[in-house]
Amino acid sequence: MKDVSFDVVVIGGGHAGCEAAAASARMGVNTALFTHKIETIGEMSCNPAIGGLGKGHLVREIDALDGVMGSVTDKSGIQFRLLNRSRGPAVRGPRTQSDRALYKEHMQKTLLNYQNLTVIADPVIKFLFDKDRIVGFICESEKQIFCKQLILTTGTFLNGLIHIGQTQIPAGRFNEKPSTGLSEQLIKYKITLGRLKTGTPPRLDGTTINYDDIEMQSADDDPYFFSFLTSKLENRQIACGVTHTNNEVHKIISDNIHLSAMYSGKIKGVGPRYCPSIEDKIVRFKEKSQHQIFLEPEGLNDNTVYPNGISTSLPEYIQRELLNKIKGLEQVKMIRAGYAIEYDYVDPRELKATLETKKIKSLFLAGQINGTTGYEEAAAQGLIAGVNAALKITNAKEFILDRSESYIGVMIDDLITKGISEPYRMFTSRAEYRLSLRADNADQRLTPLGIKINLVKELRKNFFLEKQKKLVSVYDALHANLITPNTAAMHSVKISMDGVKRSGIDVLAIKDVTIEKLRKIWDNIPYYEQSIDEQVQIDAHYSGYLKRQSHDIEAFKKDESIIIPLEIDYDSFSCLSNEIKSKLKTIKPKTLGQALRIDGVTPAAAIILLGFIKKSRYKASA
Ligand code: FAD
Repeated sequence: MKDVSFDVVVIGGGHAGCEAAAASARMGVNTALFTHKIETIGEMSCNPAIGGLGKGHLVREIDALDGVMGSVTDKSGIQFRLLNRSRGPAVRGPRTQSDRALYKEHMQKTLLNYQNLTVIADPVIKFLFDKDRIVGFICESEKQIFCKQLILTTGTFLNGLIHIGQTQIPAGRFNEKPSTGLSEQLIKYKITLGRLKTGTPPRLDGTTINYDDIEMQSADDDPYFFSFLTSKLENRQIACGVTHTNNEVHKIISDNIHLSAMYSGKIKGVGPRYCPSIEDKIVRFKEKSQHQIFLEPEGLNDNTVYPNGISTSLPEYIQRELLNKIKGLEQVKMIRAGYAIEYDYVDPRELKATLETKKIKSLFLAGQINGTTGYEEAAAQGLIAGVNAALKITNAKEFILDRSESYIGVMIDDLITKGISEPYRMFTSRAEYRLSLRADNADQRLTPLGIKINLVKELRKNFFLEKQKKLVSVYDALHANLITPNTAAMHSVKISMDGVKRSGIDVLAIKDVTIEKLRKIWDNIPYYEQSIDEQVQIDAHYSGYLKRQSHDIEAFKKDESIIIPLEIDYDSFSCLSNEIKSKLKTIKPKTLGQALRIDGVTPAAAIILLGFIKKSRYKASA
């Protein structure tokens, strides 16, 4: 296979790589995925779970664009739970515990049978450049591969270094070799790299856990799936145990903190604040006498248990000692020690919104390499990089989602505009327009955009169009039905007694009114299935808020539509401070909206930019 060439090549078979390869292939482009081993494609490096608040939204959005993560998650889910179920739909987060082996198996099956996609197990050791463009790479097997666009998704592998106590092992993940030499090539092109760290807890033998006095948490009775196409549960659902650390455990950690890799000064990288190690928790939250630990089984046919909440880099013997002081784990056998890992990441301000690097043409980056943490964040970036790499092959317009239409847009805008100071993970609080960016309506927001660029395959397209027909017929009936306040009162629906007739959709917006109740008033509201009723109900309940939010979105879109000319020379603005100039030169915002979101760019600076933009528009039109 000497001198083989592809249109798009993805390096890395993690969550970003899988989604990037699938997206590029779905666009009809000749795509290849190069990774270390076929058996580790779709590996969950840390916890066997997908989704959660914000993260679950990302997976629904990936699915709405016909990505692979949602359906693979549904096929491997063993404990579906909708977080925040009792709160509003905007902040509900689908989550599931996954069977680690099933997840990998389904991901591998999906990709190995994907049209337009070739999967090759051969690690990449060196990039090939032609001036400022990447043109291919050399593999460990010494084969040279050429490509028009390359997507790098190497996760925690770039100069990865594992820490357990005072022991350091070069590795990309447990028992896997790191990638060396690639970061150094990027640095030669003046790409800014940094160091981050993350950690994982020890793994336990579930047969040695005493569950007798432990609280158990069950799956939901009515699972909320990740894929809009999934209709039935595939696997038996399991329960997780919940236990806690205690003062004795905290004392062991405090007494030995100097032996933890993180506190002995051996680790330079910054870790995820929202996913702290148990050492961090003890040091930062001294007042707390206990911390929660979820005992999550890793699979239906696997006795391994993942103790979520106690990631650590203490020496192995101390990990054993502290585990045995925890309720239910008195006799537990540790299968593998927890560890911390440090790795290189690229400052995401090096990227355009398409995730192509600004300094090396045709090189896209996605996933943990961009300073994020989490499978879902990685997959969402993979999808955007895959689509845009494929679009470049045909010189088609870029595919960029903005903050008002998706969590994916929020994440990418945050990364490329603000950069990161710690591993970035998604939360619902990061989205300004979260009332409209709900998990339930991800298909309504994004599937039409995917259809427009041929990213969505026939099966989903037909499913979506069929769903739209059903929704429209329910909406039409609701809009056409009118009711006076008096008649409404007769049906125990309270509306203001102002004599004004209201439509079914107006009445449905009232708290506690359900579509079922309205069917008792009007018998012409069609019923298709529960999910259609739910969608209409949620949309109606949110309609008032959304009307208010739409003004904010309009204002946002206005700023986003003001494009900053590429030829702008920030140095020529004597009235801008050097600090602002330097930030604008580094980030190169595409729009006035993006410029305004850069830390330190003041409204006064935006007015100066607007003046320049208007002048150049005037010159162009003259
Ligand atoms: P990865 O999943 O790391 O995949 C990288 C892929 O690239 C692999 O398939 C690898 O084989 C391949 N690759 C690497 N170098 C080469 C090369 N030179 N040639 C070919 N292929 C290559 N996330 C959380 O949300 N919470 C956590 O608590 C958490 N803890 C973690 C703890 C540890 C120890 C680790 C390792 C990760 C943890 N993560 C956690 C992060 C999560 O695993 C990642 O965010 C996610 O897997 C990133 O996906 P990715 O596709 O970017 O990279």
